[in-house]
Amino acid sequence: MSLLSFENLKVSFHQNGALSPAVKGVTFDVCKGETVALVGESGSGKSVTALSSVSLLPDSAVIEGSIKYNGQELCGASEKELRKLRGNAISFIFQEPMTSLNPLHTIEKQLSEILLVHQGQRGTKARARVIELLMQVGIHDPENRLKDYPHQLSGGQRQRVMIAMALANGPDLLIADEPTTALDVTIQAQILTLLRDLQASMGMSMLFITHDLGIVRKLADRVCVMKDGVIVEAGMTKDIFDAPSHPYTKMLLDAET
Ligand code: ADP
Ligand code: MG
Repeated sequence: MSLLSFENLKVSFHQNGALSPAVKGVTFDVCKGETVALVGESGSGKSVTALSSVSLLPDSAVIEGSIKYNGQELCGASEKELRKLRGNAISFIFQEPMTSLNPLHTIEKQLSEILLVHQGQRGTKARARVIELLMQVGIHDPENRLKDYPHQLSGGQRQRVMIAMALANGPDLLIADEPTTALDVTIQAQILTLLRDLQASMGMSMLFITHDLGIVRKLADRVCVMKDGVIVEAGMTKDIFDAPSHPYTKMLLDAET
């Protein structure tokens, strides 16, 4: 059953008096409990597609088509409805955790704020939940990391904290936009394993955006290959890797090996 679905999504941006298209009619869905990878080179429209799903695009964007979450139309949904979805059902992880974490707040404060705003949790209960979340994402000795500021953590630890923040709402859908691109290769592998384990244990659905086919192979049930604002090929991961049909997919696969 489809959890998030895009139907003929088109996104253009007002720029210098003209309208320039970024996404040109994209149709795909993410079903409950599955991981779908959106893969393609830089500038192909992956982030714009993902951001449009919860109206995180700037006002210069013109969006057409249909985006449904659990059957509910999101295009044209009220800010109140969207905020509720972003608070409870859908979470995002971005590429560079430093830009999403507040450098002036401790790890505990950033996580507690989410628990307070979205779940009304505070005090010792919230603190216990913060520690539990940090443990869940593999932060060692979490009690002693609560008062750390983002700059005191390594890149991999910061990304773990970002994942903890994304999990704090107990989302049904996690959208991860190149969450490991800024990390060292060994740390990348650890974060991917973490995401895969979390996805499996929590039964979350995941939309995983990447330009790296190696990641797709490890993580995704299905793949959509995007190029110049359209999906040129989609299918089960194994089928795409075994027998790609579009020349662009073949080229990506050749470049990988
Ligand atoms: P990807 O995530 O696949 O690297 P994006 O979705 O970020 O690519 O971008 C797709 C296209 O849309 C690019 O040409 C990019 O320049 C353009 N674009 C993205 N965001 C904006 C914006 N806020 N204003 C204008 N153009 C944008
Ligand atoms: Mg992007």
